[in-house]
Amino acid sequence: MEKYQVNIKLSSIKKNKDAGQTTTFLPGRKTASFEAYQLPEYFKHEDNCIINEWTEMDGIKKDFKGVIISEDLIQKCIEEKPNVNISVDFERQYIIHAPIPEYSYDYENIKVNCSYCGKKIFTKDLKADEFWDGENEYYSNEICPECGESDCCDLIYETIKDALKRAGKN
Ligand SMILES: [Zn+2]
Repeated sequence: MEKYQVNIKLSSIKKNKDAGQTTTFLPGRKTASFEAYQLPEYFKHEDNCIINEWTEMDGIKKDFKGVIISEDLIQKCIEEKPNVNISVDFERQYIIHAPIPEYSYDYENIKVNCSYCGKKIFTKDLKADEFWDGENEYYSNEICPECGESDCCDLIYETIKDALKRAGKN
């Protein structure tokens, strides 16, 4: 089987500023609590806010407290600054993952020959899949997109260490 070396695209190497981190924060939903002597008419109970408390005197409602449940209404309060005190809470959502590597990079897309059908194919077009060969579970990253044979060529992927050396950065 023909052997090919697939190099890292030097221009694609990026140093990750969050290298080593195992958590990523996602933009969470915003809610806000509010307090106001009088509420603007666009505060609609159970539509964009929940009014929890108020006092009533001589038939006039005042001193409202509650929660804003619409991000649009929070935005409106931030921009228009009505006479409403709001305090915004972020729901802190995050995911835990394997540590972010020091570098991210892409490999060159090179042309190789399939050792089964002989067609010229690009490494980016190779498919990956799992197989069961009757005895063992088996994984191939080098499935020919033309004839469907697994391990259709022998690829050696450059390591980031070697690529950095080649780039003169290490
Ligand atoms: Zn093939």
